[in-house]
Parts: sequence; C-alpha cells; structure tokens
Amino acid sequence: MNHFIGIDMGGTNLRAAIADTDTGQIFHQRKCPTLAAEGQEAVIQRIVQLIRELTQANGASGAAITGVGIGVPGTPDIETGVIQFLPNLPGKWLNVPLQAIIEDQVGLPVALINDVRAITLGEWTFGAGRGADTLVCLAIGTGIGGGVVVNGQFHLGLGGTAGEFGHHVVEPDGLPCGCGGKGCLEMYASGPAIAAMGVKEVMHGHTTRISEVVDHDLNRIDAGVIVRAAQEGDPVAQGILQRAGMYLGIAVGNILGVISPQRVIFGGGVSSAGDLLLRPIVQTVNERVHVIPLQKVEFVLAELGINGGLVGAALWAKRRCDGR
Ligand SMILES: [Zn+2]
Repeated sequence: MNHFIGIDMGGTNLRAAIADTDTGQIFHQRKCPTLAAEGQEAVIQRIVQLIRELTQANGASGAAITGVGIGVPGTPDIETGVIQFLPNLPGKWLNVPLQAIIEDQVGLPVALINDVRAITLGEWTFGAGRGADTLVCLAIGTGIGGGVVVNGQFHLGLGGTAGEFGHHVVEPDGLPCGCGGKGCLEMYASGPAIAAMGVKEVMHGHTTRISEVVDHDLNRIDAGVIVRAAQEGDPVAQGILQRAGMYLGIAVGNILGVISPQRVIFGGGVSSAGDLLLRPIVQTVNERVHVIPLQKVEFVLAELGINGGLVGAALWAKRRCDGR
C-alpha cells in the first residue's frame, strides 16, 4: 500500500483525502471552506489542520502516510515549492514558500503542483486517460487549465508551467485577462465568461429560460444555470454554449497542431454540459484543423470528477518522494 494525502486548494473549498497511489482508491475525504478573504495564513492553517485530521484518521488503519501533494490554482514552482502568486484567490500569495511552511508544521514531505496538472495525472493514471500515450486535458471551471502527457511522459515544462491553455489567445484584440494579456480563452469560455454571456442576454431583454431558472435574480446566474437552461431546450442558453464551444474548439485545434494527442479530455464543472459543449468543440475542430488525422483523435469527458485532482495530487507527491 502506498498512502499519500492529496489536497485540492480550490477558490471555494479545500478538499483533502488519503489516496492509495497503487489503486487510485480514496479514503477519509474531508472538505472545508477556503475562506481565502481571511488571508493566506488562515488558509495555510486550514490546510495544516486537514492534514492533521487525515493523519489521525489514517492512524487507525495502520498504513503510514508517505507524503502530501497539493494542487494549487496557479503556477507554483514545482522545484522550489514556492507560490509566486494566485490569480484567482483573494489575498496576496506573493512568493509564499508553501511547501516549506507546511513541511515544517506537519513533518511530512510536501509537493506542490498546478491543480489541473494534478487532474491530468489522476485521469491519465486511473480515469479517462488510461492507456493513452499522448494526451491533453482541459478543465473548464472558474478558469481554464490544462495538462499534457507526451509519449508516456507527464510533460511539465519550465517550473511546471506547460498546459496553460486558458491563456491561449483566441481574439487578437480581445478582452483584457487577469494574466496581463488580452483575448485569452478564459475570457470567452470559462464558467464566469459563460455566466456573463447569460447576464448580457437577459439584460438585452431576450426571451430565455435563463431568467426563469434564477427567479429573475441576475446575481444567481452562473455557468450551471446556463447549462441547465440549455439542457431544458432553451435556444439562447444553447447558443451561449455553442459560442463558448467554438472558442474552445479554436484553442483545441491549436493544441492539436502542437501536441497531436490521441485523446483530449475535458473536465471541470462546465464540462457537465456534456454534448452541448463537446459538439461545438468537435465541430469547430473539424472545420479548422486539416493537417492532423482527426479520425484518430478521441474527445472525451473526464471520469473521476473531484477525485481526479485529489488522487492526482497524491500521485504527484509520490513521484516527488520517489525522485528525492
Ligand atoms: Zn490570460
């Protein structure tokens, strides 16, 4: 048995579990609100607390925990374990040596990785990516992240930054993005971007189920609301997903040209739209990509849900422990 703790540091919730990295099994899942507005020290203490709870819970079962992996919503330096900054989390988080701070407090080796790179590792090993030699994974949620596997190797690039698909430019003079660039995919196809399109449609007075789903309270419109209205047959909501899917398709087409993967995996909350999002993505790819044998590329949904990030973070901790 190889027991590691995997943690997903989300904008809303911190989730943690013990994972058996040989089987992908998850034990003792825990969750608490991130409450990032309380500042980085408070968040770090909550992470430490989760690790202590899990270590105690595991004590009864006997197998020792070897290390801790943390999936971070940003680009931590995977070599030094330092977070440079976290664009989607309130608070400063500037140059925070999170790995060293947590190692000091819990006495276990800790490894950081980008949250979607963790999902990619989890899906590749135990989920929708099993058996694929070359794949890419995109997670569409509050942001859009990604991960890459090439020729059987988990490809991380400089400091672990390979796979930042959310910041592919899809509109040359487009909307300014939190990363400092403009026209990034994230501004057109992430959860908040999809919600913003819904708000706009309602404010323009278009007849749509979107406003009924939220009882005419525009503040409650999120991507889940748009997906629900689309599933109920609302043409305006379906049009929004069609448009987001087109932008995703442009980005995926560009990715295909670089990586030429045999499988493309879509995860994250927005991917619950399923075919309503996949169809326009694949349609756009078919219209625009002519130099890749598309009939050999599989477009699939992630299989592990939230567990993908947890087991992936645990797998990352194992890799780092094995390499040390
Ligand atoms: Zn960007």
